[in-house]
Amino acid sequence: MTQISELRIGHGYDAHRFAEPQDNRPLVLGGINIPHDRGLLAHSDGDALIHALCDALLGALGKGDIGRHFPDNDDNYKNVDSGVLLKVVMDMVQADGWRLINADLTILAQAPRMAPYIENMRKRLADLLNADTDCVNVKASTTEGMGFVGRREGVETHAVVLLGR
Ligand code: MG
Repeated sequence: MTQISELRIGHGYDAHRFAEPQDNRPLVLGGINIPHDRGLLAHSDGDALIHALCDALLGALGKGDIGRHFPDNDDNYKNVDSGVLLKVVMDMVQADGWRLINADLTILAQAPRMAPYIENMRKRLADLLNADTDCVNVKASTTEGMGFVGRREGVETHAVVLLGR
């Protein structure tokens, strides 16, 4: 393993509201399409897990947040695949000489059940991050019916990353 002399930690948070079933939006989290009767409202594809991850990486770099780099009033990002945004952010990480040591991600959702999709999310995210799958952890929880997540109004996500160089 190469010597690491500097470390940076970053934290990201996001929340998106569920669309109505008649909006016909796909539910996309962690770069994976998840079968559900409603997707998340957003200017982009609504992938709140990738948004939290981008914010964590940008936080570690000291480079603001996802809204600064990809404004939600910019038509270039309308319904954009958030994986594309993550790749741009990861290019910034690598351009500054950093590499990802690990990322730990949490989804809070009352429904649908995330467990069947967690491994595919890890693989997809690791691919986008140019990292080994075991450097990327994804976990999910309900809020036991409490709050906006518990009322199934939306999804909340958290991300913590550690970078080294
Ligand atoms: Mg977002």
